[in-house]
Amino acid sequence: MRGVVMTKPGEVIVTDRDEPQIEEPTDAVIRLAATCVCGSDLWSYRGVQDADHQVMGHEYVGVVEEVGDEVSTVKVGDFVVGSFMISDNTCEICQAGFQSKCVHVESAASIGTQAERARIPMADGTLVATPGQPTQEQIPALLAASDVLGTGWFGADAAQAGPGKTIAVVGDGAVGLMAILAAKQLGAERIIAMSRHPERQELARYYGATDIVEERGDEGVEKIKELTGGLGAHGVVEAVGTQESFMQAVGATRGGGYLGYVGVSHEVQIPGIELFFAGIHALGGPAPVRRYLPELIRLIWDGEIDPGKVFDLTLPLEEAAEAYAAMDERRATKVMLTF
Ligand SMILES: [Zn+2]
Repeated sequence: MRGVVMTKPGEVIVTDRDEPQIEEPTDAVIRLAATCVCGSDLWSYRGVQDADHQVMGHEYVGVVEEVGDEVSTVKVGDFVVGSFMISDNTCEICQAGFQSKCVHVESAASIGTQAERARIPMADGTLVATPGQPTQEQIPALLAASDVLGTGWFGADAAQAGPGKTIAVVGDGAVGLMAILAAKQLGAERIIAMSRHPERQELARYYGATDIVEERGDEGVEKIKELTGGLGAHGVVEAVGTQESFMQAVGATRGGGYLGYVGVSHEVQIPGIELFFAGIHALGGPAPVRRYLPELIRLIWDGEIDPGKVFDLTLPLEEAAEAYAAMDERRATKVMLTF
C-alpha cells in the first residue's frame, strides 16, 4: 500500500509500505476514506523535532476491512472515526474521561495513518462507527472529529465555555477555529478570536467569533482586558503552543477563570510566579477525543455543525509533499488527503 514517510525534516515522500495485518485479537484494519496533515506534523517538517524516515499521520476515517476475534463494537463494512490516541476505553483513567492518558495509550502517529490502510489497535476502545455510510460532504467533517474538532472541543470544554461566558481563543489554525465552533455550540455569549490573517478571521466569524483581536503578546492581553471590562475572559483556549501564545493565554484569563491549553507546547517555559499570581484553573494536554466522539458524530450527522470547512485544500495522497509545503508556507490551513 502507499503511505507517507518523512525521510528528514522538510522532505516528505509517498512510498510503498507493508500492508497492515491483524496482529492482536483486539485490532481492526481499516481502509482510509480520507486522511490529513496536522499542524503538529509541521514541527518535524520544520526541524523543531527530529525526523528520520518516519511514517506520518494520526488522523483517520474509513471503512473497517478486518477485525480481530475479540472486537465487538465495530464490524467489517462499518464506517468509523477514531481518535488520534489509541485507548482501551475501559481503564480507570478512560472511565474518568481522559482516554488520551489511558494506561494502555498508543499514539496513532506511530501507525502512520497518511496511508491507504491502517491497523488500529484496541478497536473497541478507539473507534466509533457512524450511523451509516457518510456522504462525500460528511467525510471532511468526520475526519476533523478525529483530531482538530475533538481537540478544539476539549479546549473549549476545559475553558468552561457555556452560556453567558466570554471565551478568547489564542490561535487561528485548525484547532483554534474548531475551538471557536465548540465554544459557540456550548453556548458561549462572546467569542474573541486572536488572529491576524484576514481569510482565517473570516472563517473564525463563520464559526462564531464575535470579536477579532489582532494584537499579540502583552498588547493582545491588554486588548482582551479592554473588551472585558478590565477583567479578562472567563475562559481562554490556547491553540498554538509557543511561549508567546501560552503567556498571552495565561494573561488573558481572568482571576478564577479557566485556561484550556491544547496547542502542543514547544520549548514553553512557564514562570511559576506568573502562573501563581494569575490565580486561574488550567487543564490541557492531548485531547481525550474518544470521550467526545459519539456526540461529535451525532452533531455532524444531524447537520448541526460544519467542521469540514477547516480543510481549505484537498489533494490526492500521492501529492502529500505539496500538502506539507502548502501548510508550511501558510498557503493552506489544513490539507485533506484523498485516494
Ligand atoms: Zn484506558
